[in-house]
Amino acid sequence: MRSERTTCPTCGSAEVRKHGHNRQGQQLHRCRDCRGRFTGLTGTPFSGYRFPTEIIALAVRWYLRYRLSYAAVVEQHAARGVPVDPSTVFAWVREFAPRYEGAARPFRRAVGSSWSVDETDVKVAGAWAYVYRAIDGHSQVVDVYVSARRATEDAVAFFRRAIAATGVVPTGVATDCAAAYPPALAAVLPGAAHETGKQVQQPIERDHQHLKGRLRGTRGFKTLAGARVLCRGHAFLRNVRGGCYDLGRLVDATAASRLPLVLRAWDALTADLRGH
Ligand SMILES: [Zn+2]
Repeated sequence: MRSERTTCPTCGSAEVRKHGHNRQGQQLHRCRDCRGRFTGLTGTPFSGYRFPTEIIALAVRWYLRYRLSYAAVVEQHAARGVPVDPSTVFAWVREFAPRYEGAARPFRRAVGSSWSVDETDVKVAGAWAYVYRAIDGHSQVVDVYVSARRATEDAVAFFRRAIAATGVVPTGVATDCAAAYPPALAAVLPGAAHETGKQVQQPIERDHQHLKGRLRGTRGFKTLAGARVLCRGHAFLRNVRGGCYDLGRLVDATAASRLPLVLRAWDALTADLRGH
């Protein structure tokens, strides 16, 4: 992995020289042509952060993957000699969880056309909010949408987003037949077969338990945005672990192939976001 840039991110010139270090201790370079100064992270999402990329990547993965509050992630970093505060970890997760998901999107395996859909509830600022989730026939989480209500328009919004995000128009949808679903399906997916009943609902209800398990490590959310980041990020990591992304083009299969898939994938996505 290269740690230095060989070309200027501003003008593309190769006439770059080392030029001391910035306040974060990162190597600075200076372009002889445009006189711009930059680090190896300039122009990447990790630019301008006080902490190294590896620390940010670790904090985001820990928070999405394990039953940890922001304070618990802080404690884990403190144990490694990294003094960071909860609001910083919060800001990293808010910023980077969607970026990792976006970096992985081109590698996502096709989503199936038979969806099992249901909503589960979470506490946001002391009130209930609803997490719409769908899985396909291979237990891939199709999409996740958090709403303060569960009216027809929320179910409609969920289906529209899920179709836009996956490029898949389902031919069959299973729900618990909550009142919102039949009109929502009529509006968005009039051609899809609608199945209802306990039996067809079991896979998604079982899948909710993974999210519920993760949420046990938190004390509810203060904002809908916070709930969205974790509910979506949690589903993303589950899909990564479940092999729903073909990261073969990113992940070096020979190096570190004994590491768990999620670690290799995270390192590869971090490198991709960093530009090398
Ligand atoms: Zn330049």
